[in-house]
Amino acid sequence: MKLRLVEAAALKRPPVLDKCHRFTRPARMASAGLYPYFHALMSAQEPEVICQGRQMILLCSNNYLGLSTHPDVVRAANVATRHYGTGCSGSRFLNGTLDLHEELESRLANFLGTEAAVIFPTGYQANLGIVSALAGRDDLVVLDKLDHASIYDGSRLSVGGLQRFRHNNVEDLERVLETNLDTPALVIVDGVYSMHGDVANLPGIVDVCQRYNAALVVDDAHALGVLGAGGRGSAEHFQLEHQVDVFAGTFSKSLASIGGYAAGAADVIQYLKHHARPLMFSASLPPASVAAALAALQILTREPQRRQRLWDNARYLREGLEALGFDTGPSSTPIVPVILDSEDKALQMWRRLFECGIFTSPIFHPAVPQGTALIRTSCMATHTTEQLERVLEAFERSGRELDLVRNYR
Ligand code: PMP
Repeated sequence: MKLRLVEAAALKRPPVLDKCHRFTRPARMASAGLYPYFHALMSAQEPEVICQGRQMILLCSNNYLGLSTHPDVVRAANVATRHYGTGCSGSRFLNGTLDLHEELESRLANFLGTEAAVIFPTGYQANLGIVSALAGRDDLVVLDKLDHASIYDGSRLSVGGLQRFRHNNVEDLERVLETNLDTPALVIVDGVYSMHGDVANLPGIVDVCQRYNAALVVDDAHALGVLGAGGRGSAEHFQLEHQVDVFAGTFSKSLASIGGYAAGAADVIQYLKHHARPLMFSASLPPASVAAALAALQILTREPQRRQRLWDNARYLREGLEALGFDTGPSSTPIVPVILDSEDKALQMWRRLFECGIFTSPIFHPAVPQGTALIRTSCMATHTTEQLERVLEAFERSGRELDLVRNYR
């Protein structure tokens, strides 16, 4: 009886699902040995991981400070689970707020020098919530063209208008604000761009926002723990900490956990707590994740040598790749892309690196502009120089096979 129902369902497949049946690209790529996604790791996010039973160097993790296996972080997560259980079973708004959530919010606000902070289940949801709640019907959302997808998705959820300016181009931002003088504007930029590893031109952006009385949100997902003398992010790096209206960010990178946050003036945070739907209509962050982020924040503050080591590694990797003749684009951070002119080359390069035991991420449109593709690499503070040396050897060998290396070392 059951089988007959299944057969009937297959015959009468709802047309809306036809696209799934026609979506065969992943299977075709896999049969050519060129499918780069969803490769399961069988170990922690360490500089070396186990994948498909092989030891590989992990070169694309956002575990920048290497804290996800730090004994203090793991212990904090275990203690929190024993005390509070595994989940909160409700929204922050209702039964899902723990004293632990409030402690992380006040520690974060303290750390970032803001009046208040609110934490979200993910960084993605933080951006959805900030943009959609703050940009109302009569407002304008102004995005850098290369802003993260979560910021774009937040603007789709928002009822306000949307305009974009050319990447990191202050004159173009000014043009957009100049042509919308009568509309309250919310400008949102990434502090560090996740694919190309370049830093937002905050001095110029802050200046234009102030002259046009636009609010500025900075998503420091890749800058927290990485930029600034104290690891406070892009605004600290430029000494503009008090010129940003809202900081957005995530715990899934330097803070070795999961979750997101918004930090800013008390009234703005209060507004978000009562209007950000991705916060209100989703269960709150599990205790273990909150405790892990709290512990990681403490280590980030007390061990600046980790940040120094991260930057030393980034410089070593970038200079090594450039010496081989690879194009690392505008990167000036631990995110070091290798930019290639076609998806095919990026896939071939990815596979050769994979075969050499180097785990990287190939990135295509729409994450990067059409007509380009890149291999995204990123360092951790915990990579050793010997591991990075092996990485450079693998890039040299792979690049030579594909005729991409201009001048050999
Ligand atoms: N913003 C930026 C710039 C990001 O790169 C990411 C994730 N890659 C996010 C937000 C989303 O963060 P999360 O992983 O915590 O959802």
